[in-house]
Amino acid sequence: MENIKIVLASNNPGKVKEINELLADTVFHIQSQSEFGVIEVEETGLTFVENAIIKARNAARYTNHPVIADDSGIEVTGLKGRPGIYSARYAALEASDEDNLNKLIEDIKPLHKVDRKARFVCSMVFLRHAEDPTPLISQGTWDGVVIMAPRGRNGFGYDPIFYLPTHNCTSAELSPELKNRLSHRGQALKSLIQQISEI
Ligand code: IMP
Repeated sequence: MENIKIVLASNNPGKVKEINELLADTVFHIQSQSEFGVIEVEETGLTFVENAIIKARNAARYTNHPVIADDSGIEVTGLKGRPGIYSARYAALEASDEDNLNKLIEDIKPLHKVDRKARFVCSMVFLRHAEDPTPLISQGTWDGVVIMAPRGRNGFGYDPIFYLPTHNCTSAELSPELKNRLSHRGQALKSLIQQISEI
């Protein structure tokens, strides 16, 4: 079967790599929006899914290709779900992953252990074109606990402090293959690909 080209509405190399690995055995071929010179759009939504649609529509407008977009983040119980949709800009608008990680470490210090429960969330959408009125939508979550001492070198973002009691390590200590199988993004993508295949 012929390869189907889909643009990924993200410039985050960590995400692009993970999603490409997840799609390796499918007919779908992902190209990052950065290869098309797409200018990033402001994420004005109040939910992950709204932001994913905003990013997807923007990339579809620029590229004229079908698009997959995701919006993801980490929710900490004792911080009332923050940083949530603000995960990428938690420390400041143009914050680096390291700045955001350090801010979260500071913010969880006063929390009791039970309040350090956390989950990654990923909403993913597929748009056939910029005006597609029936986007395909999926969501994945991944439960863990945030810790104050970073561990591991794999992954990106908050991975070094996302501890998985089930595996006795952080998500930055998992192999990329295992992270992909377990993660919020892996689950959301699996469900989205299933839906795309059905149409
Ligand atoms: P987005 O690119 O607007 O979806 O922002 C997602 C932010 O959430 C990223 O900047 C990361 O800091 C964080 N994030 C999402 N998924 C992961 C993950 O799998 N590992 C670590 N951090 C993540």
